[in-house]
Amino acid sequence: MAVLVYAEHVEGQFKKSAFEVVSYAKEIARNGNTQLVAICVGEISDEALGKLGAYGADKVLAARYAALNTFSSSAYASAIADAANRENADIIILSNSFSGKGLAPAVSVKLNAGIVAGAIDLPKTEGGKFIVKKLAFSGKAFAWVELLSAKKIISLNPNSYRIVDSPTSTIIESFEANNTPDSKVSVKEVIRSTDKVSLPEAEIVVSGGRGLKGPENWAILEDLAAALGAATACSKPVSDAGWRPHEEHVGQTGIVISPNLYLAIGISGAIQHLAGVSSSKTIVAINKDPDAPIFKVADYGIVGDALEVVPKLTQAIKAFKG
Ligand SMILES: Cc1cc2nc3c(=O)[nH]c(=O)nc-3n(C[C@H](O)[C@H](O)[C@H](O)COP(=O)(O)OP(=O)(O)OC[C@H]3O[C@@H](n4cnc5c(N)ncnc54)[C@H](O)[C@@H]3O)c2cc1C
Repeated sequence: MAVLVYAEHVEGQFKKSAFEVVSYAKEIARNGNTQLVAICVGEISDEALGKLGAYGADKVLAARYAALNTFSSSAYASAIADAANRENADIIILSNSFSGKGLAPAVSVKLNAGIVAGAIDLPKTEGGKFIVKKLAFSGKAFAWVELLSAKKIISLNPNSYRIVDSPTSTIIESFEANNTPDSKVSVKEVIRSTDKVSLPEAEIVVSGGRGLKGPENWAILEDLAAALGAATACSKPVSDAGWRPHEEHVGQTGIVISPNLYLAIGISGAIQHLAGVSSSKTIVAINKDPDAPIFKVADYGIVGDALEVVPKLTQAIKAFKG
């Protein structure tokens, strides 16, 4: 018996969410008095793999096929399911990232495992039960889900669990999975849309809505984001109007994020918008309408014209940091 964690990397570099899931999985393995095995898919150096030891991985399986350097849901799911079978893992942890959202259900089908998607806390195991807390109804409620199957899959929401140092001497093993690479799908090319901080991973997000009036005013948001080391986001009408790219749209029909700090600027706070941001740890709203619904969920609010407030805020942050 073991706990298996899928540690996602991009071109040989781990994302922050990989260290979060390894830390989370380590705590589950520790509570179950068992070892933690990590699996990585695609080419990556031993040096990079060794980093997982810092967060408690006892063993790292490296499925290093060049053909798997680009993501393929079915091939990656096969590799993870194979690793779970061979390591006799009955708990499998993934990040509920873009790729994890597709992978976790695919692995669950292969293993006939119950799944909790979007967990936000460690499982409770009192009385022989295995219960996992997750967000429900687009983040407006919590659900506690009991997993009854022998094999259990949990995908953890990014930014929901802290990274915990847990230095362990790690063994790195090459892993040859069955059925890989994928014979049905072949990714020919990947073009990255941005080199900036990835939105789901960002700890601080500066987000703009229709209150900014037009794309010509976005420079003030970008200046604020640069001063804070933040990613930028927007409401749906803003991306629909082409003021900002679609990959910045957050909400029910966009990306769901849970940064430590979310700044909603010129955003009314419609329920569909909040569905994607309400699990942010701290929300700051800037809006000229004191009755805007965003203030009901905001921890801090500034009533004022964003075009005047934001540059002053940026100046103050720069002065503070300087
Ligand atoms: C099925 C469905 C799915 C949807 N999914 C999403 C989604 O995923 N994400 C999303 O965002 N929306 C979504 N929407 C749209 C959503 O209902 C709202 O229409 C949208 O969020 C409003 O965007 P907004 O806050 O930018 O604009 P508005 O609602 O127009 O609000 C603009 C705000 O800016 C303030 N303002 C104006 N001028 C200034 C100024 N100078 N300074 C400061 N404040 C100012 C105003 O007081 C107002 O509160 C969805 C809608 C539907 C029906």
